[in-house]
Amino acid sequence: MTTELVAPRPSAKTKLKTKVKTKTQKEEEHPHVEKNIYHVIMGRYKMKTWYHSPYPDEYGRAETLWICPFCFKYMLTQMQYDRHKAKCRLRHPPGDEIYRAGGLSFFEVDGRRQTIYCRNLCLFTKLFLDHKSVDADVTRFLFYVLTENDSEGCHIVGYFSQNIEWNSDYCFHLACILTMPQHQRKGFGKVLIEFSYIIAKAENRLGGPEKPLSDLGKSSFMSYWKDAIFEFLADPSRKECTIDDIVAETYIQKADVQNTIREANMVKLHRNMMVLHCHPKPRKPRRRIDRSRIHWVPLPTMIEKRRPLILGDG
Ligand SMILES: [Zn+2]
Repeated sequence: MTTELVAPRPSAKTKLKTKVKTKTQKEEEHPHVEKNIYHVIMGRYKMKTWYHSPYPDEYGRAETLWICPFCFKYMLTQMQYDRHKAKCRLRHPPGDEIYRAGGLSFFEVDGRRQTIYCRNLCLFTKLFLDHKSVDADVTRFLFYVLTENDSEGCHIVGYFSQNIEWNSDYCFHLACILTMPQHQRKGFGKVLIEFSYIIAKAENRLGGPEKPLSDLGKSSFMSYWKDAIFEFLADPSRKECTIDDIVAETYIQKADVQNTIREANMVKLHRNMMVLHCHPKPRKPRRRIDRSRIHWVPLPTMIEKRRPLILGDG
């Protein structure tokens, strides 16, 4: 039995904060946005798609696709899916498990080694992100896949990708981020974002998400940035600080810190000086990364030799 699921679009609140684009504006920005596939069936979920995705040949012309929730292989019929399900042995993303705690895991999947998996994941992603260009060359990316685990296996709830060809001119540590439609609004977006900043900090890589952000991406990042800055400021031992102090601690880019402070009204003009002025409110508890359960060490200057350390049981 499948559960009909309308993938949640940005909330009304989010829409109010962002410029609502007219249909004409949207078409001008994305001239090839006409949707081709209308539904995807993945395990027990049937989801309405949002955008066009360049699935090849007859797959790109099908109204409905069946997608394996473990390997992301796409199929045209229930029968093909049932046959595949009987023989698919994958029960977790095909990479190294670099984190495990509280029923969640992160896997690092290398686009150079798992090209088909990563390409299929990108094609699926494109159904739900209109600004994402599906890059056939997934070999330039590492994919950090978050899973929720049970006795059946490790089920993907979201992922973010990172360009491995980064240098001092390329300061994004997150190329693309997606929370699976059936797992949105459960706090997984912030888990993904927090993990990306932990990795960036370990690599000594000050950066941020690639822009422009989607509406959902903007809302998730803004919410994470607010949390991280409030947490920093809530430390009672800290009497005064600068924007640079916040950047050094959180690894959030200066421009993003400044925007967040402005949007959250955390500054006040005082004697011709901008003074940070906020009383951190208790935030709703959220899912957190247990840093002691990360089994990964970067080699920041030697990308070709960069490999995760192999993991214990976690
Ligand atoms: Zn499969």
